[in-house]
Amino acid sequence: MADIIHFHRVSHRYGDGPQIISDVSFTLRKGEMAFLTGPSGAGKSTLLRLTALLARPTRGQIVVEGRNLADIKPREIPAFRRQIGLTFQNPSLLNDRSVFDNVALPLLIRGHSGEDIGRRVRAALDAVGLLPKEKAFPLTLSGGEQQRVGIARAVVAKPPLLLADEPTGNLDPHMALEVMQLFMRFNEVGVSVLVATHAVSLISRLPHRVIHIEHGSLEQRRKAELMEKTIEF
Ligand code: ADP
Repeated sequence: MADIIHFHRVSHRYGDGPQIISDVSFTLRKGEMAFLTGPSGAGKSTLLRLTALLARPTRGQIVVEGRNLADIKPREIPAFRRQIGLTFQNPSLLNDRSVFDNVALPLLIRGHSGEDIGRRVRAALDAVGLLPKEKAFPLTLSGGEQQRVGIARAVVAKPPLLLADEPTGNLDPHMALEVMQLFMRFNEVGVSVLVATHAVSLISRLPHRVIHIEHGSLEQRRKAELMEKTIEF
């Protein structure tokens, strides 16, 4: 199977600060879903940011969807990023816009027609179980619902790759499981998914591979070992 993300000996520091990522190599295969784990500050967000070209590595090579990111010029970055759905712990919704309008935003930016937007937004809202709330405003929704609006916005343009940064950080265990199952459903229809999370007990019950990062370096860990470490804390 081809790779959708390939990191080869990547290191990163912000400005002249300390080394955050050190000599990291890993791949995510096309159609794969994996979890990126590690303690707070380990470099998980940085790794996702590098993948989405929100930052450029100080060293090493990153290939996403067959493109060496070093070859992508600044003016090409918006087109590159359209292939990636990004979600964050805080979904940063526009509170003065309806759920529908929030999810429609990426399509408006891309110049889709009104009819097409309606169809796609409703399909995305249906996928996250929020079709009945299309007219609601974000602040009237629960944390889990707001998170799902953010996910609908990330997938509405059908990107082949979804990167999620701590998507369950603010959610109770039941809602957290629902959000993870949502990612699994997208994965089942072919989307490659990388989820940064420290919800170790939740993912220990799921079958996907774990990529574990500590102090900026990858470490081989089985899920059982991660659980033991979490209990120690
Ligand atoms: P994680 O997602 O695993 O919690 P991060 O990638 O967010 O880790 O952060 C790793 C380290 O990089 C932290 O020490 C953090 O303070 C630092 N860092 C993150 N973003 C920036 C930035 N924009 N500028 C400087 N330092 C940063």
